[in-house]
Amino acid sequence: MKITIITFVTLWLSMLAMSTYAKNTQPSVLRLQLSWQHQFQFAGYYAALDQGFYREAGLNIELLEGGPGTLCDGKMLAKIDFCNASGSVVKQRVEGQPIVVLASILQHSPIVLITKKKDGLFTPRDLVGKRVEMLLSGVPIPEIHAMLSNQGVELNEIKLYENTTNVSVLLGDSIDALYGFSTNEPFQLREKGIEYKIISPRHYGVDFYGDVLLTSERLLQVRPDQVEAFRKASLRGWRYAMNHQADIVDLIIAKYAPHHSRRRLMAEAKAIESLMLPNLIEIGHINAERWRHTADTLADLAIIKPDYSLDGFIYEPPKPPEETSNLTMVRVLIIVLSFLTVAMVALWGGYIRLSQEIIERRKVQKRLRRDKELSDKIAYTDDLSGMGNRRLFYERGNDAILLAEVDHTTLSMVLMDIDHFKQVNDNYGHLVGDQVICEVADIILRIIRSRDIQARIGGEEFAIILPETDLVGAVELAERIRHAVAELTLESGEGSFTITASFGVSAYGGVNDSIKQLMQSCDEALYQAKHQGRNQVVSV
Ligand code: GH3
Ligand code: MG
Ligand code: MG
Repeated sequence: MKITIITFVTLWLSMLAMSTYAKNTQPSVLRLQLSWQHQFQFAGYYAALDQGFYREAGLNIELLEGGPGTLCDGKMLAKIDFCNASGSVVKQRVEGQPIVVLASILQHSPIVLITKKKDGLFTPRDLVGKRVEMLLSGVPIPEIHAMLSNQGVELNEIKLYENTTNVSVLLGDSIDALYGFSTNEPFQLREKGIEYKIISPRHYGVDFYGDVLLTSERLLQVRPDQVEAFRKASLRGWRYAMNHQADIVDLIIAKYAPHHSRRRLMAEAKAIESLMLPNLIEIGHINAERWRHTADTLADLAIIKPDYSLDGFIYEPPKPPEETSNLTMVRVLIIVLSFLTVAMVALWGGYIRLSQEIIERRKVQKRLRRDKELSDKIAYTDDLSGMGNRRLFYERGNDAILLAEVDHTTLSMVLMDIDHFKQVNDNYGHLVGDQVICEVADIILRIIRSRDIQARIGGEEFAIILPETDLVGAVELAERIRHAVAELTLESGEGSFTITASFGVSAYGGVNDSIKQLMQSCDEALYQAKHQGRNQVVSV
């Protein structure tokens, strides 16, 4: 008896010691291979490390810097736990590599072609017979390949070169166009004083995801909890990073890339934000339909086979805890009942299957609804400024006019165009031009009422429909926007500058009996405002 007690106590003590040891040891290291050198492109991961999000999730994460030649694929994921790649990585999956996408970080790809402004090469067709750096390890970059193909340009019509990742080649005469990231190269070119033009696949119907986060099927099988914890903590890091961009820029300089300037990293942060759209789309959101579209584009180019399958490629996060606990409770119930009677078990088994099916169906419906809402949001939103687009403006505008007609209420329209905007692009670059558009959009959204219908209807043209507002009220609102725009101070690499805008205003009624007619009257008024010296509101 004594021996038994001693054995039991010894066993108990050693188990206690072992569990204490286990608590004190570090969790094993998981490694994330970055696709490029340290920069804001990886801000979310730095934030998650620095803010302790990984630690809180019980993870020990190591970030590995990348560079030329870093390729996130099945081979890499056989050795490293996570890596990031562009949307064309779906090719690797279709070819049989066991990779899984955990999150789509950038909703749009930063991949573009860059040319020298003086060469006058502005469209894909201009590149026929030209020398283009668009190969990575001998393979054409799919986004660029697809853009050229959409424009009827065959690869054999172009002189293809390996990418050197050095923007300075544009200074010499050895190359006509090169591939780069809209988040990086434009800033570098501006710093070097090279005047450039961007040819973006997005403008030619190719819209792949930008940065995506990947892992291997193997890790997902062996350590599903850690993969989920990593995904969650990383996205938490990204949310933090986008809300604290300046702090993360400081962190990058202090810890990772002391050679980068604040200006460069802040410019990159803004460019990343415009591709991530964190205010519109939940960071990391994966839309299966967009992956299918990407794969279809690649299949059209014969880069992948047409009968591809994406099964298992998109990660499914685990069920939310409440539903799991509901299920657990139901399962416990079954066990108890199974002791009571075999017949009852059969009955309850059927019930459980049914309730599981209902839960599953509800989840699918919820997901479909969310995807539908999201695609509607994308279909009606101008993705640069976050304002509505032409489609939203005309659809909702027509409804508003109908309502004004039926209710006999007033309605006005304001058309607005930034003055000499071409000069902004010419003087400070397209990226700064884009920022100006965003700032002006913010002003409009701040000043108008929630029921007003707003849109960016052209490059630097905005339109607003004001229900229950007469001409005087609309002119007053336009004046407020005009003042706010003129008071805005904008920053560029060359210092600060200001802008102005001109406005045309008209009210519903009389000849203005349709949205088209109303727009025409506003357009005439706007033309007059420009003609009379700009920075003014003209009403007709
Ligand atoms: P004005 O005072 O008469 O309106 O002159 P402007 O230069 O503003 O007008 P113009 O219509 O000649 O030029 C508009 C420029 O806007 C030309 C085009 O390159 C630029 N643009 C159009 N869309 C975008 C965009 O999305 N981003 C940027 N950065 N520029 C754009
Ligand atoms: Mg203009
Ligand atoms: Mg214009």
